[in-house]
Amino acid sequence: MSFYRGRFAPSPTGRVHLGTARTALVAWLRARSQQGAYVMRVEDIDAPRVVPGAMEAMLDDLRWLGLDWDEGPDVGGALGPYVQSLRLARYEAAFEQLRAGGHLYPCTCTRKEIASIASAPHGEEAIYPGLCREGPTHPERASAWRFRMDDAPTFVDVVRGASRSGMGAGDFVVRRADGVFSYQLAVVVDDRAMEITEVVRGDDLLSSTPRQIALHRALGGEPPAWMHVPLVVGPDGERLGKRHGSTAIAELRARGVRAESIVGWLARSLGMSAPSTIAARELIEGFDVATLSREVVVADVATLFA
Ligand code: GLU
Repeated sequence: MSFYRGRFAPSPTGRVHLGTARTALVAWLRARSQQGAYVMRVEDIDAPRVVPGAMEAMLDDLRWLGLDWDEGPDVGGALGPYVQSLRLARYEAAFEQLRAGGHLYPCTCTRKEIASIASAPHGEEAIYPGLCREGPTHPERASAWRFRMDDAPTFVDVVRGASRSGMGAGDFVVRRADGVFSYQLAVVVDDRAMEITEVVRGDDLLSSTPRQIALHRALGGEPPAWMHVPLVVGPDGERLGKRHGSTAIAELRARGVRAESIVGWLARSLGMSAPSTIAARELIEGFDVATLSREVVVADVATLFA
């Protein structure tokens, strides 16, 4: 068995866009260039956010781009992804372990109450001010469960270098009042179970990393390595999305754009020296993480693949 084990973990809440495909490509190249394993995992435990049919459509886009994976359950004779909603017993067991270990406490605060006390930079989650740490402030309410962050783990990112200490600190929810396990808990349980050695993902998840490191340690293991890929933004500086034009792979496919053209653009946007059309597998040999762009990339989608 090879030593490197990577994964890609999309949430089936929409379509694969250029930004997602770019991160998936880096994660795939990282695994393939080290003869490692590439695991596909669908993160669908937040049921109201799941879009019916999105999982199949996303996986189909990734396969079409040439980003295949190695492991997963057999689904009708094909290699399926791991699906989080089928793995709830594992999250339950980890939750019980954390609770028994004194890492969790019940919290009855509402988002509004937290927001009125703690201020957060725009778009970021407020640091929990610890109101329920010594006991629930509203025992009559259903409680969520929070993880006690007693320190702020630091880490060295493969792309970004050393993290700033204190980033992402604050007690965080591992189970909501409605019983749903949080993204943080499910990711760590699965990364442990799948023996992931390096997490490659978009740098919008950077603030989750200290939390996940703390969970790995509380569950009795060392965390994997981390690599956060800088995002693609539109000409207005905002994260690439619908407002910038058609960035969904499915739309580009429907317009007749070839997978090789998309892969070529993704590779160049990552700072790799690649021709404008190239198959993903042709990028494996020359792939070198040291040459990857550390900057946010600005893309004018309106003129792409014209
Ligand atoms: N499911 C998460 C997302 O799509 C990514 C999780 C991860 O890579 O850790 O945003």
